[in-house]
Amino acid sequence: MSDDCPNVSRCELFPRLKTDSALAFCLEQYCHADFVRCARYRYAQEHRAKPPADLLPNGKQLAEAG
Ligand code: SF4
Repeated sequence: MSDDCPNVSRCELFPRLKTDSALAFCLEQYCHADFVRCARYRYAQEHRAKPPADLLPNGKQLAEAG
């Protein structure tokens, strides 16, 4: 499956994923593919609210990603 995440245009983290090479793997693994597994996408679905800015698609926080 390779669909773009419907939240690409409003996701706070998406611009950073595109410019930070350490996080670029997220684009292929989540944003442009398996977005239903993205922790940010799931958070938005479950809570009907914007996810925390530092929540990464793999469920970790930006600071931990190092
Ligand atoms: S980080 Fe998650 S919510 Fe944001 S654009 Fe990528 S797949 Fe969608």
